[in-house]
Amino acid sequence: MALWRQLGSWALLTGVLVFGLGAGCSGGGASAQAKNPQISEPIVIFDENRAWDDLETQLTYGPRVPGTEGHVNTREWLVARLKAQTDDVTLQPFAHLLGGENVRMWNILARFTGTGAAPREHILLAAHWDTRPTADYDPDPAKRNTPIDGANDGASGVAVLLEIARQLKAHPIARDVTIILFDGEDYGPKVDNMLLGSKYYAKNLPNPKPSWGILLDMIGDADLSVYREPNSDKYAKAVNDRVFTAATRLGYLRAGTLSGFVNAPYRVPVVDDHMPLNEAGVPMVDLIDFDYPPWHTTADTADKCSPKSLKLVGKTVLYAIQMP
Ligand SMILES: [Zn+2]
Repeated sequence: MALWRQLGSWALLTGVLVFGLGAGCSGGGASAQAKNPQISEPIVIFDENRAWDDLETQLTYGPRVPGTEGHVNTREWLVARLKAQTDDVTLQPFAHLLGGENVRMWNILARFTGTGAAPREHILLAAHWDTRPTADYDPDPAKRNTPIDGANDGASGVAVLLEIARQLKAHPIARDVTIILFDGEDYGPKVDNMLLGSKYYAKNLPNPKPSWGILLDMIGDADLSVYREPNSDKYAKAVNDRVFTAATRLGYLRAGTLSGFVNAPYRVPVVDDHMPLNEAGVPMVDLIDFDYPPWHTTADTADKCSPKSLKLVGKTVLYAIQMP
């Protein structure tokens, strides 16, 4: 664990040294537009306070573990939030054998029709809405069977997508968008019982299949560093380039202690909900800050997260999905 942390600090320093200067000089979107007159400036409005409320509300339902009442209640709340933004909200039910029992789970899909001329690209914006039933990495062995709150690991990505849903209703974009909240990402303890919702969706893709996608996971950390996740560069480099270009134009590259994106590879590939999609031929990137000490512990609570981090990521995604 110590070595892991050391490597993290080294990678972070490198990122700041190489890319911090660029962020300081870029001046954000307006100057970027002047330099790129062929690109019309996307509308990137994001209310981080509303997103934060949605993060906290998820926590009031308790752990969102498949097979529990809190899970079903959260599902109902999420469906209602999304139905307020689009008529096209559906549940994709599936079941998975866990501990000898067939546990019911649901992916939640909300579709937004683009304003562009057909044929339009159809993009996926995804996060997982379930939470880990076990705090495997809790420093206190007595707590390792306790379900986690999942403020960052679960609620943060969903909170950003709920605000993006409101923005897509207020300011429709050219592309078709499906917001998909995956269930069963974090059941575990091992990977054969993880990524359940994304595996199910990837096996049951619409025809034609989505063009590309962006996954958000653990993007609420108050000390946010979103690197280029190596599997994303391997399978979906053009999408990752798009995201990091958006972050650069918005002035959201990490500088010093300021949170942000780091346009450098993360030190290890991450297996997450984007992999079943990539393997099914839908290029998808994972925006994730995996350097989060409370990961899979009972300390993954709202006080470790920040509305500002939700805003950085939310605005970057809104910008990226409007770029030509
Ligand atoms: Zn997790």
